[in-house]
Amino acid sequence: MAGAEKIRVRGQVQGVGFRPFVWRLAAEFGISGDVRNDGEGVLIRAFAGDVDGFVGAIKENPPPLAHIDTVERAPLAGTAVQPGFSIVETDRSSARTGATPDAAMCPACHAEILDPEERRHRYAFANCTHCGPRFSILENIPYDRASTTMRAFDMCPSCRAEYEDPADRRFHAQPIACPDCGPRLWLERDGVEIEGDAIAAAAKLLRAGKILGIKGIGGFHLACDAANEDAVRLLRERKRRPKKPFALMAPDMDAIRCHAALSPAEEALLNDPAAPIVLLEKADDIPAGSLAPALAPGLSVLGWMLPYSPLHALLMAAVDGPLVMTSGNRSGEPQAIGNDEAGTKLGPFVDAFLMHDRPIARRLDDSVARIVSGDIRLLRRARGYAPASLDLPPGFKSAPPVAAFGGELKSALCLSRAGTAILSHHLGDLEDALSFGEFQKAAKDYSRLFDHCPQIVAADLHPDYRATRFAEAEAERLGVPLTRVQHHHAHIASAMAENGWPADGAPVLGVALDGLGYGPDGTVWGGEFLAATYSGFTRLACLRPVPLAGGDAANREPWRNLVAQLDTAMGWDVAQKRLGKSALAGLLSEKPVANLRVLMQRRLNSPLTSSTGRLFDAVGAALGLAFDRLTYEGEAAMELEALGAGISPDRAYPFAVVEAGNIRHLDPVPMWDALLTDLADGMPPGQISARFHLGLARATAQLAKKLADEISAGAIALSGGVFQNALLMRQVAEELDGCGLPVLAQREVPANDGGLAFGQAAVAAARALR
Ligand SMILES: [Zn+2]
Ligand SMILES: [Zn+2]
Repeated sequence: MAGAEKIRVRGQVQGVGFRPFVWRLAAEFGISGDVRNDGEGVLIRAFAGDVDGFVGAIKENPPPLAHIDTVERAPLAGTAVQPGFSIVETDRSSARTGATPDAAMCPACHAEILDPEERRHRYAFANCTHCGPRFSILENIPYDRASTTMRAFDMCPSCRAEYEDPADRRFHAQPIACPDCGPRLWLERDGVEIEGDAIAAAAKLLRAGKILGIKGIGGFHLACDAANEDAVRLLRERKRRPKKPFALMAPDMDAIRCHAALSPAEEALLNDPAAPIVLLEKADDIPAGSLAPALAPGLSVLGWMLPYSPLHALLMAAVDGPLVMTSGNRSGEPQAIGNDEAGTKLGPFVDAFLMHDRPIARRLDDSVARIVSGDIRLLRRARGYAPASLDLPPGFKSAPPVAAFGGELKSALCLSRAGTAILSHHLGDLEDALSFGEFQKAAKDYSRLFDHCPQIVAADLHPDYRATRFAEAEAERLGVPLTRVQHHHAHIASAMAENGWPADGAPVLGVALDGLGYGPDGTVWGGEFLAATYSGFTRLACLRPVPLAGGDAANREPWRNLVAQLDTAMGWDVAQKRLGKSALAGLLSEKPVANLRVLMQRRLNSPLTSSTGRLFDAVGAALGLAFDRLTYEGEAAMELEALGAGISPDRAYPFAVVEAGNIRHLDPVPMWDALLTDLADGMPPGQISARFHLGLARATAQLAKKLADEISAGAIALSGGVFQNALLMRQVAEELDGCGLPVLAQREVPANDGGLAFGQAAVAAARALR
């Protein structure tokens, strides 16, 4: 070799077994020198040996949980050659972080817990450097045992030996444990521990139709037999959750294959170390009686996950069938994580608890994802994904650090610095006071863990969001400027930034199809076509505004949106005539339509809205979906999507584009006309839904292309909660295919409000760069 070299590795390389991996390769390639963690990642000094081969092997096959961003090599002058290769202890003051996401049980640990010869046979808390809890047990940084909730457990000599042996899979695996020294599992009923094998006893109760509280990685679940209709209904009753779909855990991939048509991409996602809940289309031939109908009424997809910890794997093997695994919380509140807390809050829901004594430091919900058009789309970013960092596009490196606090629903916060951004885990809906408490704690938690001190704070335009008021107080406290970012501008910036659109890139045509967002004109936005850069935007077009009849009540009661749409489209008298004596006319006759129309005419508690979400509610209501009231957010829209899924529409409902002052309106009047004709003709609801989806997708794509052309846009960006709808997302993408412009859609960052903070951070950073 020519001379000594310094090799710098950046990325997610700490706390993932990177140093022992380098140590083993050094032996293989005859390298002498050392490896250490520091503030920038991993630093290797190589004095002798086949350095080219060594570096090639580092890049080629890194440890499962590592992500290498860059490897840089530089000569190392004037250092004496030393024999051997060593791992240098981490200097606690210099390592910046090491906070990595929790990872699902690896195949090696799975094999061990099934092997009667192994000392961790049937041990529910086995883990190694390639798997196990991380962020959920992390109390402080740098990441070592003393800064996790495992500090209460003293390692036994056998675990200690593994922990200290660089050749062992458990070298420096901080949560290392075994039955002799680690956390313990038990079953309890009414606060009393039940003797015997906890897994076997829990499985027996579940098979008998009982409901269990199960302490997992990021919180408690409520579980019951997914094939048992009575058990599922009982759980719904106890949790006061009439229809919202329940997530499922299956013993293995084969069990999921019985119930869902799986693509290779979906299998890979289920097997990912992040182990998210994956939304999967129900198979056509689900064996009768194998799944309870009450799991997800009216929907064509079910959310599935695989066991992601040894505890889950042992339990699922003993139950030998799918379980409901829904988050253990009281309606609207955050998931319980403490044993006492669970006893108090979930006690009334459950027949027994499967408990353990490893404390959960941080509440992490299961992540939710879906494959659409071949790409992963994260709908909820939490366990397994947080706190991984996201790269900001070229040009953002020199921007000052930003703290962005997102919106009101599906809240998350984002900290950016030096070209990267940390998007927090899902923090829930801030309308709930306890969730807001969690949000405030998380803001402190993240800034401490990542040693982040913002020079700019970013928030939504909405003055009454709790997150906005919190951001105002933070800006005040820190004495730094506050930047307000319009809701849909933030959505579009999120899609731009996720796709690497450069900071000084050309304007894009942004399409934000969404629920509600505060508009600068005092109306409520949600179906927007924007000419956008990171720092600013112009509204070019929107869905034709209609009254949000009754304000917030319209967000809960789809029939109100139907009345507002029909009244605006054709006048109520005409609409009534066309509905004739139909079932829908019957439903409407029981509603105070006359009062509502007076409210709308006088603009009382009826701000105008261009919300696409409310249009979906209206169309859903026309088909009788959640007509009176939504029992969960997005219910009518999700049922409408389910109706249209798998049906090839023979035509698309037309939409008009009309001039309206300086902007254009995408007008659903012709759509309503065609839909009412179809209703009168007795057209099946599935076909009506399919025609609506295709019509909206085509009209959206055509208008987007036209506007993009007019402003010479560099790309078309798609975002907003409505793009969680797989049918619409696929169709819009197909319609835009071949338009000659890149289409920037969301994948790792949610298209819903969970992605807002990321977009806000990009906007605030870009404004500071100007
Ligand atoms: Zn493992
Ligand atoms: Zn041990």
